[in-house]
Amino acid sequence: MKKEMLYEGKGKKIFKTEDENLLISEFKDDLTAFNAEKRGNESGKGSLNCKISTEIFRLLEKNGIKTHLIETISDTEQIIKKCKIVPIEVIVRNVATGSLTKRLGIEEGKILPFALVEFCLKDDALGDPFINDEHCLLLNLVPNEDCIGKIKDMARKINSILSVFFDAKNLRLVDFKIEFGFTQENELVLADEISPDSCRFWDKFSNEKLDKDRFRQDLGNVKMAYEEVLKRILN
Ligand code: 5GP
Repeated sequence: MKKEMLYEGKGKKIFKTEDENLLISEFKDDLTAFNAEKRGNESGKGSLNCKISTEIFRLLEKNGIKTHLIETISDTEQIIKKCKIVPIEVIVRNVATGSLTKRLGIEEGKILPFALVEFCLKDDALGDPFINDEHCLLLNLVPNEDCIGKIKDMARKINSILSVFFDAKNLRLVDFKIEFGFTQENELVLADEISPDSCRFWDKFSNEKLDKDRFRQDLGNVKMAYEEVLKRILN
């Protein structure tokens, strides 16, 4: 049973349950971009992200990736394992766009020669700055160097599984952001969500954007794009 709210983030609310090892994650309709400088709301978005993320986490579990997801209990709610979140945004990129092109001047749309794994510090006040492996150790964001290796290996494996899956759905997985946590048993697991809020999906043939860039760039039809992603996942 859902008890008091523990935390409210930009895309989700987290509630306690009667079991101290389990939490409920509720997906919200709110949309934010540019470190919450731009705000919006799309009715039904929370439900779409909950369904999409559930399908993706189940697919990853089937392929040997441990996650925090226990069960999806409603259109917008999941029961998840309580985790100590590693305060790092792990970004994986297959195609250059977004902040990568701005930062390094790489041509927009260039297919990268290998999947690039990047880290950002999860800190809204600092604007989620870019950090490297040594910053992770310096700031004690991870227990040791081995953990950084494990995070990178899991991120690359997740990218391989999802790139093949989405290619079959005629979607290009351009880039995505994931988060990890340690369970009460100290196991490193995939946490948070994987949805069009945290990924870039381009149609394989037309390069049409089917993700939160529609909101960021005022392209319109945000909900239709998320619905299209869910439809292709379920097909
Ligand atoms: P970029 O660094 O190009 O802005 O984003 C790279 C990828 O990570 C994109 O798929 C973007 O959606 C995701 N991403 C980066 N930062 C965040 C964040 O703070 N929240 C979410 N949900 N996704 C993010």
